[in-house]
Amino acid sequence: MNLGLPRLRAHATAMLLAASAALAGAGATGTASGHHAVLVPLSACAMALVGAVITWCWGEPFAELTLAGLVATVTVLVTLTAAVSNTGTTGDVLLFLLPVVFAACFLPIPLALGSLVVCSGACAWLFSRHLSGVSAIAWWTSATLVLASSTTTVAVLRRELSATMLELAGLARRDPLTGLLNRRSFDQALATELERCVRSGGTCSLLMCDLDHFKAINDLHGHATGDAVLERVAGDLLAGVRAIDTVARVGGEELALLLVDCPRGTAKRVAERLRRQVAGERLDAPSVTISIGIADSSLAAGSEELLAYADRALYAAKRAGRNRVCWATAPPEQSLELAA
Ligand code: GH3
Ligand code: MG
Ligand code: MG
Repeated sequence: MNLGLPRLRAHATAMLLAASAALAGAGATGTASGHHAVLVPLSACAMALVGAVITWCWGEPFAELTLAGLVATVTVLVTLTAAVSNTGTTGDVLLFLLPVVFAACFLPIPLALGSLVVCSGACAWLFSRHLSGVSAIAWWTSATLVLASSTTTVAVLRRELSATMLELAGLARRDPLTGLLNRRSFDQALATELERCVRSGGTCSLLMCDLDHFKAINDLHGHATGDAVLERVAGDLLAGVRAIDTVARVGGEELALLLVDCPRGTAKRVAERLRRQVAGERLDAPSVTISIGIADSSLAAGSEELLAYADRALYAAKRAGRNRVCWATAPPEQSLELAA
């Protein structure tokens, strides 16, 4: 359950350090016993301030355990400040909101709960120094409830926010009509796969598919029927490849497939099977065919070049009469027709 917002975390950490600096500064004013004793809190104050500025400007690379250490340090600072302050313990203990809220926001739940327990223990110690009996217990109970409810509120908010962000990230990756990946996700998958092919010496194949005379289906049967046909073709393509392959809607009625560990020979057979599957007779919807252009990763080093090869092969298939598979060979002009 990580929020995955590095800037937010860096700024919150910087604010925590700035607040620590303020606490150390306040501690210095309460240290009356001579010149040297003041130097310690003042140095801590200066260091925390420098840390706050650096963290705010350049971000924070801290692991969760380091942040937990920072929360523990702030807890000790709050405890010491409350112990030496003359302003009354009941107000001072609210300073514990600082570490518990930060922990609830950015640390794993067990560490956030640990922080809550430690702060509650520190409150008990502080109240027992200034108050007695029932009064101490009553104030400790209310302080602990305030800290616990703040921790819970922030933790619930964080969980909701994480879930929403996850959902939005999923929606941003997909095409709403077909449920397939969208162009942006496909480009990312293609770039990653090409990099993998370069490293491993493997081959992947790119299939660009375009529905034939799709405009006529819209014109004849209406846009809603056109949408249904598009969904059906998307389903056929998805069902016809392995789970490790990628199928995406990269344009209006253009669908792309990335077949991993798949040399051209195998890709041709897969493409032909998919073409036949789509062209099969349907009782419930208008028939449609697709043209497919194939380019394998041995042809090009980069995504854009490979997409251009596949596009040329697709247009060769269109020019040759549609409802067929063509593949690109280097140089790109030499596209060959596989099947009519
Ligand atoms: P070709 O065989 O040359 O590809 O002909 P085509 O008619 O398929 O191609 P054209 O580019 O002329 O038309 C594409 C059509 O696809 C036009 C557009 O209205 C339709 N289209 C694009 N996106 C959608 C969509 O989401 N739903 C529907 N129903 N139609 C769409
Ligand atoms: Mg078309
Ligand atoms: Mg098109």
